[in-house]
Amino acid sequence: MNIIPHLINGEHHRGSQWLDVFNPATGAVCAQVALADAGTVAQAVAAAEAAFPAWRDTPPAKRARVMFRYRQLLEERADDICRLIAEEHGKTLEDARGELQRGMENVEYACGVPGLLKGEFTRNVGPDIDAWSDFQPLGVVAGITPFNFPAMVPLWMFPMAIACGNCFVLKPSEKDPGASLLIAELLEEAGLPRGVLNVVQGGREAVEALLEHKGVKAVSFVGSTPVAEHIYARGTARGKRVQALGGAKNHAVLLPDADLDNAVSALMGAAFGSCGERCMAISVAVCVGEAVADALVAKLSEKIRMLNIGPGTEGGHDMGPVISREHLEKITGYIADGEQAGAALVVDGRGVTVPGHEGGYFIGGCLFDRVTPDMRIYREEIFGPVLCVVRVESLEDAIALVNAHEYGNGTCLFTRDGEAARLFGDHIEVGMVGINVPLPVPVAYHSFGGWKRSLFGDLAAYGPDAVRFYTRRKTITQKWPERASHQASDFAFPSL
Ligand code: NAD
Repeated sequence: MNIIPHLINGEHHRGSQWLDVFNPATGAVCAQVALADAGTVAQAVAAAEAAFPAWRDTPPAKRARVMFRYRQLLEERADDICRLIAEEHGKTLEDARGELQRGMENVEYACGVPGLLKGEFTRNVGPDIDAWSDFQPLGVVAGITPFNFPAMVPLWMFPMAIACGNCFVLKPSEKDPGASLLIAELLEEAGLPRGVLNVVQGGREAVEALLEHKGVKAVSFVGSTPVAEHIYARGTARGKRVQALGGAKNHAVLLPDADLDNAVSALMGAAFGSCGERCMAISVAVCVGEAVADALVAKLSEKIRMLNIGPGTEGGHDMGPVISREHLEKITGYIADGEQAGAALVVDGRGVTVPGHEGGYFIGGCLFDRVTPDMRIYREEIFGPVLCVVRVESLEDAIALVNAHEYGNGTCLFTRDGEAARLFGDHIEVGMVGINVPLPVPVAYHSFGGWKRSLFGDLAAYGPDAVRFYTRRKTITQKWPERASHQASDFAFPSL
């Protein structure tokens, strides 16, 4: 059996405990992943600490050159990376390509690190006195990532952290760790010194050890909200800088003037792409007026029934399987709950089988109409191919509904009315907003972050916020008086 190992100081460690990794399209075990304990984590942090002084002192332009080579290697090995993603995660090869491309854009941004790290300088803040602020790396930083983007989310974190001069310990999802390990190995192949990037595999035990370790100065986390909240509380209580991105329930609001056919196409991809296992997936369609709702449900249900479902590795499908048997059961549990609560199940995707893949974790697209805010299928993140339609009377009602939800990751408005779009943008309490754009995932030179219980911490992921998160400001005030001048003592607080 293939063991997916830790990567510590440039070497593979198989450990002594392993967990099965499944191919969700077949239900068969495709590999085993090593499980780190506190001792393994301590080894990885020690390797990162040892590598830090030399890496910190490496000029940013040289660090950037490693990123340029890395970008090239990711492109060259894209097929291998995407095959691993499709095999262990289940998403389609085309979707894996998109994930990798968006991840690589963060490497491109990190290539500009010499410019991004430029400090701030003021001459003559006082007589013969100059001041500047410098942005210095933190030391050893850890990243803990979810199963749903095994390449992109790690690439949100370590390229920029490392380009800024930090050393890094990545703890990928234990459900699909293969692609995360491969992209880490490629950075060493691009010329990164050993120990600057380490990977510890495993689950909760590894995470707790990272949170407890004094050598870890900051933690970037992406995953579900309960775990994000725990990591934020525990990490900050231990004096670490923490950004913890959590779950979501993303609403698309449709106004009566929307281009309905285009909105339907957009919603199909945003709700059912990657089987709905995206933190920016649209899981609620809020229709303003009964006419929009009736038309939307009719058009969507026809398209949902035609979704082409099959193993992601074969290519050409709209949706692959979901990540695990437990997750499939959780999703079908929500569907039963929605029916019981009185929502109208217009399309039921349960019970889908794919010939030749009877053991796979497949489910078809599901559509609920007449969902109300008190229902669990509305309140909670299902993280599956289930779209809920909620009917409201006005744009103001739609905004109030979205704002009352505990999550605030992404949202989108479909309209042709600029005034409505502006009102929506101004008043919606969500971190990432699309106007006729269903998945408003910011590009790499902006930053990614939700509001409310979708992000714990002050700074968002990647982009300019990442430069600030992975560095700390030092401000130096320097005086070089003329030799002959006499400096009298001044007991008042210095001022001009
Ligand atoms: P998860 O919270 O179960 O796991 C995330 C990471 O935390 C994994 O590395 C896992 O090993 C670790 N972990 C799990 N339970 C833990 C515990 N009790 N203590 C310590 N560590 C633990 O999330 P997941 O199922 O892998 O990913 C799906 C979730 O991630 C969804 O809620 C989705 O919305 C969210 N997500 C959010 C974003 C975002 O940017 N906001 C992006 C992607 C995914």
